[in-house]
Amino acid sequence: MSGVRQIQRPCRLPFVDAWLEDESLYSWCSRHHRLTPHVTRSTGMALFGVPSAAKSKYTIANLPYFEKVTDGRLGTSHEILRTRTPMGAYMSLIERSSNWRESGRLPFSRWAGMKIGALCSLRYCEACHRQHRSMFGTGLWRMAHQLPGVAVCGEHFVGLREVTHHGQTWVLPGDCPDTGLHVTKSRELEVLTGVATAATLIFQSAHLDVEFLKVRATAVLCDVYGAIDAKHLDPVRVQKDWESSNLAGWLNREAPRLICCARGWILDMLRGRSSVSNPMRWALLAGYLKELGFAAPDTLFSPPEELAGQMDFWDDIEQIPPKVVQAFVCSGSCIEVAHRLGVAAITVRRWKRRRPALALLCKSWTRASSTPPAQIVKALETPGDRSQMSCISPASPT
Ligand SMILES: [Zn+2]
Repeated sequence: MSGVRQIQRPCRLPFVDAWLEDESLYSWCSRHHRLTPHVTRSTGMALFGVPSAAKSKYTIANLPYFEKVTDGRLGTSHEILRTRTPMGAYMSLIERSSNWRESGRLPFSRWAGMKIGALCSLRYCEACHRQHRSMFGTGLWRMAHQLPGVAVCGEHFVGLREVTHHGQTWVLPGDCPDTGLHVTKSRELEVLTGVATAATLIFQSAHLDVEFLKVRATAVLCDVYGAIDAKHLDPVRVQKDWESSNLAGWLNREAPRLICCARGWILDMLRGRSSVSNPMRWALLAGYLKELGFAAPDTLFSPPEELAGQMDFWDDIEQIPPKVVQAFVCSGSCIEVAHRLGVAAITVRRWKRRRPALALLCKSWTRASSTPPAQIVKALETPGDRSQMSCISPASPT
């Protein structure tokens, strides 16, 4: 870390408390601070050899120093950076350099210099907080809530509370002023839960090939818009649909300062005009594709070998978007399905060729009184899909 003056040799801490659940590094430090008589700057010195370490709530401080004073009991510098700071999400998306692998040294300046932006403040869930108080007698900052783009608790399905105080302090949930991230509609909650799922998948992935991710996401959008390749995607239409989405509406209302979603950001990212190593962008894009109903985050971020030959990412009937299945059930031809979904007929024919379940539905088009196979009906009746049970009318992908 640049600018760090090591004015003392690392001294082992008198005690090293274990991690609590999936708490962040900053959370552990704040809890440790509570158990000592130190002032803020002294704790910074004791843990990182840096008096201002409390400023670094979600990036990193001098982790090799921390590893020494904790005697490695909390993991190596690399393990802590990867699993206990939001930087782990960036590390999933940035190629590992041979230099890094060979030397085992952490490129601190690279991580510390990254700009994260909004939706990366300290956040917590009130329900989780009550549980932690009851179980451990203390609050903590969960990694699941600190990941770039996460605004809801995936366990309690509520909006998180966001700390608005940015001082140099070691704090725990409830210690300083915060405000709630408002989720006013069930559809918003559903979409934001998708974003949170995507953020967690990114964080937990060993390494994601961003070029492959671009290909996957582009293929999904091409299917949505009936374009033969990325060059034929209409930027105006893509942007218009994004702006009318629930996710964009929520971001405009609750995170208007978010700089990673500037006009045209989706195609800019997929066409390589803007950074693809920002995990928040990928989490938001995955959430948006889920909102469109055309790709689930877990298929977008699955290892390539698990998706060999699948450019539409549907493994089986349960994963085919209900509105696609419904369009096949309600239609009598590929052209009609295409019209209902607002995609090209060639796209529908490709789906039909690749997905035996859809091909099965097409067979019923020639039988006047046929009924949908029981498996399809079961898939349509799964919880959460009921809003799409009625035959959809011709409409845009949104
Ligand atoms: Zn919670």
